[in-house]
Amino acid sequence: MSYSCFVSEIGDLNPLTSCLVRVRTTPKLSLFIETLGAGQVAFSSNDEIRVNADYIQGYEGDVRKGITGILYHEVVHSWQWNGNGQAPVGLIEGIADFVRLKAGYAENWSQPGSGNKWDEGYQVTALFLDYLNGLRNGFVAEINKKMKSGYSDNFFFELLGKTVDQLWSEYKAKYNT
Ligand SMILES: [Zn+2]
Repeated sequence: MSYSCFVSEIGDLNPLTSCLVRVRTTPKLSLFIETLGAGQVAFSSNDEIRVNADYIQGYEGDVRKGITGILYHEVVHSWQWNGNGQAPVGLIEGIADFVRLKAGYAENWSQPGSGNKWDEGYQVTALFLDYLNGLRNGFVAEINKKMKSGYSDNFFFELLGKTVDQLWSEYKAKYNT
């Protein structure tokens, strides 16, 4: 997994050390391949990533690419900020999928402009974040940094000069969706 990818997409998570990897007091992630609930793909909690063995078994297409994409997503959860628990879950999931997108593991995704809400999560939010990142290079890394100790929708205004609702409307209008 490329370290430089995380630095450029997620940014420096620790302003004190200027080093992403040092943000962890225990810089160790564990990966478990096991049987999870039916239909479940993977999840991460407390730096433990669990991938459903049945999902891998039944994967149609390039399984290496598919699982690598999932791992990108789950690893981001261990390194991103969550606004001390206040950030919308959809934004957290969107940032994780944004890194997956930028790493080139977004096969069979929806088209840009899809979705009904900016914080719907996953690919919907990831594609919106990609649009915002195009308006301001480094936007995702910057909003992630702001989410270290709390969260406010106003972060969007501070970085882009427009509210998140306004940005979402413009994004939808751009893609006619
Ligand atoms: Zn996730």
